[in-house]
Parts: sequence; structure tokens; C-alpha cells
Amino acid sequence: MRSRDVLIVGGGPAAITFANEYKRIKPEADVALFRPEAHSMVYCAIPYAIEGLFDSSKVFKRDELVTDAGVELLRRSVLAVNFQKQEVSDDVGDTHGYRTLFVATGASPIRPPIPGADAPYVFTVKTEKDMRDIITRIKNGAKRAVVVGAGAVGIEQAQAYRKCGIETWLIDIAPYVLPNMIDEEMATHLKEELDNFGVHTILGSRVESLRNTASGVSAVRLSSGEDIEINPETDFVCFAVGMKPDIEIFAKAGLATTHDGIVVDPRMRTSIPSVYAAGDCCAFNSAIDNRPVGGKLATAAVPMAKVAARVAAGKNDEYPGFYNGAATCVGEWRIGSTGFTAVIAEKRGMSTIAGYGETTTIFPMMPGAKTLKVKIIADQQHLRIVGGQILSKFPATDKTDIVTLAIQRRMTLKGLSRLAYSAQPWQSFFPARNAIVAACENALDHLAARGVHMEQTEMLECV
Ligand SMILES: Cc1cc2nc3c(=O)[nH]c(=O)nc-3n(C[C@H](O)[C@H](O)[C@H](O)COP(=O)(O)OP(=O)(O)OC[C@H]3O[C@@H](n4cnc5c(N)ncnc54)[C@H](O)[C@@H]3O)c2cc1C
Repeated sequence: MRSRDVLIVGGGPAAITFANEYKRIKPEADVALFRPEAHSMVYCAIPYAIEGLFDSSKVFKRDELVTDAGVELLRRSVLAVNFQKQEVSDDVGDTHGYRTLFVATGASPIRPPIPGADAPYVFTVKTEKDMRDIITRIKNGAKRAVVVGAGAVGIEQAQAYRKCGIETWLIDIAPYVLPNMIDEEMATHLKEELDNFGVHTILGSRVESLRNTASGVSAVRLSSGEDIEINPETDFVCFAVGMKPDIEIFAKAGLATTHDGIVVDPRMRTSIPSVYAAGDCCAFNSAIDNRPVGGKLATAAVPMAKVAARVAAGKNDEYPGFYNGAATCVGEWRIGSTGFTAVIAEKRGMSTIAGYGETTTIFPMMPGAKTLKVKIIADQQHLRIVGGQILSKFPATDKTDIVTLAIQRRMTLKGLSRLAYSAQPWQSFFPARNAIVAACENALDHLAARGVHMEQTEMLECV
């Protein structure tokens, strides 16, 4: 049995980041990475491969991202771990010793336990096989598809299928789309956009069962009693209802876990010495209220893995928690969201105040100027920014990241209302009206209308 300094279990962004950061600090270390699949993938790009924007091979990452760092890539699955002996065993029958173990096994799409959900041509979206199966079904003449789940993954799938000319339904139990990213009033435009795009969006309705034949699904039954009829010979259903962490072998061996994943501290240490974890396989906290938060995203996996690598290599670092920065597209709309929505903040016990700003993406007389809407959410007690939502017909991530930075720096409404910015006719609205500043000022106006004035908010800012 060969024993190494570090074994990495996983081939996604957390594992690749850990491999590179650890070897940067300790180039002499003997490190191997287990990854069962042929390629690491850019999952975010799958919908665009499905719609045919580029060849599906473009979603594969190069193995050199691992091997150029001097890490040995083992195309194997880890089947069991023995924490006492510091060993893992793989699917080839070999056992490998380690001094440090890094777990980055990610998460798998949930297939809800409803009748018929295990029928042929009921897909989920993550693996290369998922992507190829969907593309093949479309190429073989699918005419109708039903997507269950109107989060970012489901919406992106539904749009990809429409772009392939497929009549598509999008179903969610929530009363509006993207309920984990935006609030209801911001979602109205998106429902309209999906309708205009030809996606039949049915909200506030649960999928109760799938009626099957031997070949596939013939109907999707909704809680309203409505049946969506599809052709079992050609059509398909896709579930996009969330992810569950892949942690069974580690939980079985005694690692502390919750239903959200492996329990880690801010240094990404697990309950067992010399074992670190990061990414979708972990349970992690919100940086805003230091309580568990969902949202399994690459933008959380990467910084967590950097912290894990630095700490495992003997440096000091801490992950502050996740800020929930996320983005998606609905038709022409680019949507960015960060922190908590007002609904989620209230559910977590915060009273909130919100403000809105609306401008055009560029000076309004410029050709191609489009609408830009911003919602800023602050907690009423300290007036600290706790969330932001951007709807724009220009990329929204830059503005979203400004709001995230404000949350990270614990800025108040007044602080963010003083944001210094740049302006130019092709690139922004008039200097007089930055949409983020306008949204903060709008929230401050609401407070003033209630008798709380700027001077008092200055006092609150000192809290
Ligand atoms: C369709 C889709 C779209 C997405 N879009 C976005 C987006 O736009 N923005 C964003 O930030 N995030 C997005 N995400 C989420 C993002 O991809 C994940 O958060 C990220 O991949 C998590 O990285 P990870 O390394 O923790 O886990 P993963 O990327 O899931 O990697 C886990 C790895 O562990 C391996 N593994 C599991 N078990 C074992 C075992 N026993 N032995 C060996 N290896 C094992 C797996 O095979 C895999 O290689 C999207 C995800 C999906 C599915």
C-alpha cells in the first residue's frame, strides 16, 4: 500500500482548487486526486451545450488543471474510508494511505420520491451522461418536455429546450420563479419573459406523479388535478429540485454530518483530525447571520477549498461563510442576487426595509438602452445591507458583486448610498442616478416617511 501526504477525493472545482493551492504552498508534497468520471465539467455551461451554442465537449475541463500542478490523477472512485488507519479503498481494490485527506465529493441532483419518477427519460442535470442523454432525446425528435423546479438550473434547462423548438412546461410549487434568489415583485417580469419565450410556467403547483408506459412518461399529474400529456416514445421530464451532498461513505465511517453535508469549522476542518472538506459536500453557514444556509455553488466551493488547502498546509485562514452571490438569465433579463431575499431574511428572524432603483442600463438616449432594476434590502435594526437583487438587460454580476462587497464590509444603507461610481453614455446611466445608490436612497426615504431621519440613521450606522 502506498501512503501519500495528501489524498483528494473529488474532481470538481473544490478539488481542483485545493490541489493547486496546496501544491503552490508545498510543491514537494506527494498528492493524488481521485476522480471517477472521464472529465471534470463546467456544469454551469451544460444548458448552453444542450441548446447547441457550442459542442458539448467544450464543457469538459482539461486534466492538466490537476496534473500540471504535480498532482497524480487517479481515475477511480473511493468506496470506503478508515479514519483510524488513515486509509481509503478504491473501486479497483487498492488501498491508499494518507496523512491529510481532503473530501470534495460534491452533491447530486435530488430525484423526488413521487410515483413514476424512476421511469425512463426522467432526467436530472449534472453528469456527462445526463447532458448526453438529454441531447440525444432532443436530437431523436422530442416535441414536449416538462421541467420540475423553477430555480436557476430548471429555468436554464427550460429555455434550452425551447431554443431547440420543444414545447416546454416549467412547474414549481412556489408562487413565483427563482424563490431562493429574488422576491415576488422582482419575479413578475421574469414570469412574463418566460411566457413570451414560450415556456408554459405553472407556479404554485406540485408535481404529484408521473404516469408511465414501458417506454417513458405519458403524463405529468399536478396537484391542481391538471395532467400535462407528453409522448412516452419521444418526450421527457427533467427534475431540477435541488441537490443532496454525496457523503454516505464518510458519514458511515464516523464523520460528523448534517442533512446539508459534512460539518466543518471556519478552517474547513471536519470532526476528524487531518480530514478537511469543502464545496457542495459541506454544510456551511451564511456570513450574514452565521447560521446554516443552502445554495450549493461553485462560488462557495472555490474560496472554501482555498482556505482548506492553506490550513492543511500549515497556514492560517478562515472562511467567513457564504454570501449567496448568484446569477442566472431569463430571456433577455440578466438576474443577479446576493445575501438574503426579504422573504428569506424575515424567515430567519430579521425585520427588513427595502428600496428600489430603476434606470436604464446606459444613458437613455443611447441606442440599445434597456431597463435596469435594483432592490436593496437592509435589516431594520442596524440598517445594514443584507441583500440585493439586480434585474438588467446587461450583465448583472458586476452590480451584484458591489452589493456583496457592501454586505461583506457590513455597510449600512447610508454607507452604500454614498457609493462612488463612474459614468459614461455607453456604459452606465447618467451620473445623476446610479441604480444602487437610488435604491438605498429610496429605502432611506421610506424610513424618513416613518419619521426616521438621516441623522438618526447616522447614529444607527455607529452601532
Ligand atoms: C446544471 C448546473 C449548473 C450550475 N450553474 C452554476 C453557476 O452558474 N454558478 C455557480 O457558482 N455554480 C453553479 N452550479 C453549481 C456548481 O457546479 C457546484 O457548486 C460546484 O460544482 C461544486 O463543486 P465541488 O467541487 O464541491 O463538487 P462537484 O463539482 O460536484 O465535484 C464533486 C466531484 O467528486 C467526485 N466524487 C464524488 N464521490 C466520489 C467518490 N466516492 N470517489 C471519488 N470521487 C468522488 C465526483 O465524481 C465529482 O468529480 C451549477 C451546477 C449544476 C449541476
